[in-house]
Amino acid sequence: MNDQIIVAIDGYSSCGKSTLAKALAKKLHFIYVDSGAMYRAVALYFLRNNIDLQNHEQIADALKNIHLNFHSRDYETHITLNNEEVSNEIRQMPVSESVSSVSAIKEVRKEMVKQQQRMGRSKNIVMDGRDIGTAVFPNATVKIFMTADPKIRAERRFKELHPKNPDITLEDVFENLAHRDYQDTTRSESPLRRAEDAIILDNTDLNQD
Ligand code: C5P
Repeated sequence: MNDQIIVAIDGYSSCGKSTLAKALAKKLHFIYVDSGAMYRAVALYFLRNNIDLQNHEQIADALKNIHLNFHSRDYETHITLNNEEVSNEIRQMPVSESVSSVSAIKEVRKEMVKQQQRMGRSKNIVMDGRDIGTAVFPNATVKIFMTADPKIRAERRFKELHPKNPDITLEDVFENLAHRDYQDTTRSESPLRRAEDAIILDNTDLNQD
């Protein structure tokens, strides 16, 4: 019998998924995987290499040249793209603005889902993202679908980003979240939606504990 435990946390942008996922993984001594960081790293590679999002040949070649690795330190996400640490760069606006177009591409999703399923093959794992409970691990032990008021989400994300990016405004953040939510819920390839068996967790008025 396989008694491996998989916790799948999905939801809109900046609902607190990764905060919850990290805390759970730490408490339970599970592996934590931030699947969004993978799409962000792919988007960064595409930006740097001017990959045309309509050109399927270029996309397929690019995917062959992308090697992603997680290095877990204190349950913070440290991700390398072809051996370069890109954990900070993937959180910057250029990547946030392009990631949802990149993650909507079928070939990109196929490759990321394959890698994510491989990571969850034998270990207890907490993974957060948009399609974890619906596509990556449809048989996950526990599925959580997080929501929160869009204004609260933008304020929380702004507080996090502003110290490192003083030029950023609350409006920029709000618009980016709204735009990504729209793209993520309306794309044809595994759009963001709640799995029927997912527990809804509204994080509008909750504190971290
Ligand atoms: O989780 P995070 O906000 O960093 O994810 C960035 C983007 O990556 C999302 O807006 C979405 O377009 C994409 N994503 C996805 N599927 C996942 C995780 C993230 O499409 N499982």
